[in-house]
Amino acid sequence: MADRVIKIAGAGPSGLAAAIALSKAGKSVQVFERAKQVGSKFINGLQILENYSSRGDVLELVRSFGVETDFVLAPAAEVDFYDKRLRRYRARCAQPYAYFVKRGPGPDTLDTSLLNQARTAGAEVVFESPVQPQDVDILATGPRTADGVAREIIFKTDLADCNRVILDRAITETGFAYLFVINGQATLGLALVSDFPSLGERVEKVLAKFQEIEPFAVDAPVTKSTHVNFFFRSHPARANGSPIAVGEAAGFQDLLWGIGIRRSLTSGWLASQALLGRADYRSSTRGQIERYMNASIVNRLVLEVCARTGFRPMLWVASRFDFRKFGLILTRPGLLKSILAGAIKWIWKNRSGCKHGPDCTWCRAS
Ligand SMILES: Cc1cc2nc3c(=O)[nH]c(=O)nc-3n(C[C@H](O)[C@H](O)[C@H](O)COP(=O)(O)OP(=O)(O)OC[C@H]3O[C@@H](n4cnc5c(N)ncnc54)[C@H](O)[C@@H]3O)c2cc1C
Repeated sequence: MADRVIKIAGAGPSGLAAAIALSKAGKSVQVFERAKQVGSKFINGLQILENYSSRGDVLELVRSFGVETDFVLAPAAEVDFYDKRLRRYRARCAQPYAYFVKRGPGPDTLDTSLLNQARTAGAEVVFESPVQPQDVDILATGPRTADGVAREIIFKTDLADCNRVILDRAITETGFAYLFVINGQATLGLALVSDFPSLGERVEKVLAKFQEIEPFAVDAPVTKSTHVNFFFRSHPARANGSPIAVGEAAGFQDLLWGIGIRRSLTSGWLASQALLGRADYRSSTRGQIERYMNASIVNRLVLEVCARTGFRPMLWVASRFDFRKFGLILTRPGLLKSILAGAIKWIWKNRSGCKHGPDCTWCRAS
């Protein structure tokens, strides 16, 4: 093991987090990336690294993985939610509920920072090199299928810094739309879990809605569409010669909002610890990731029920409490949530369109 090169497929956050930890532990690491550059799915727009699913700060957690957090742009301690009538529900917290990061191949993104850190630690990253799962130790290839779709538009604007989210069943059904602005750079995004062909038309409507809240300039827009998973996998741990799956390749993400950076970094690090013989991947991901995914599927059910009431009760509650503490309660795993998650998966079981492969134990394939 000491002299063997550890091979990783995929240079996203999960693969690069694993590469950084393994290289720092003295291992020889090669990362194979299908695209020409890191972050090729994204256009240097804003995303959030969530900070509400543990009491401790996520940046300390990430640093405990041996990853520097120089990619953080700004903390987020306030968010304005809007319902279908564009009534505002301002949610605030004493400590940030998230940190803004940029995603894409640009110089100041999470992706470029992780690439530089992996190379500095000694990992070799090879671009334009798609590889097969059986040829690697860690599978970090991102979402397998489009269970949810998202479109991002980045543009320059005259709008002051803001963090706005619209929940309007008529446009986003059980998805959501967001507008983040930092220093005149805006990212508008829309995520859908059904009726994918209407994505373009809905983005136009969302843009008009945000303009209704407050008019703003949209200069030099760039648009990109991508997809996300919604599935649970049976054995993310190495079995029968198959690689350890990490990040979205293992289905790891929050199923409420479809966000996954935190779980990707965590699973990449846990995989590195498993390959170093320091931890059992299956039990550590169960404790540190899957329990939270079970809680998130319960929260998704609540969101979908709230959608029928126009999200108002949910937004009212969110705006009355410290938003980070509210998130902490919602995301806290437990036996009851695990039992409920099992029941919800049974109710929502729809395998007719499943394209995740034989190790998929549950999904919301469309
Ligand atoms: C529009 C949008 C907005 C999002 N916003 C947020 C957010 O605000 N917060 C958040 O936490 N999450 C967000 N997410 C989710 C987040 O981006 C993902 O969870 C995260 O990037 C997953 O990381 P990963 O390493 O698992 O996979 P990816 O980032 O998908 O990386 C996988 C890499 O593997 C490469 N690859 C694929 N196949 C092969 C192969 N065969 N061989 C070699 N390389 C291969 C791909 O090219 C890619 O570079 C968002 C997702 C989308 C689509």
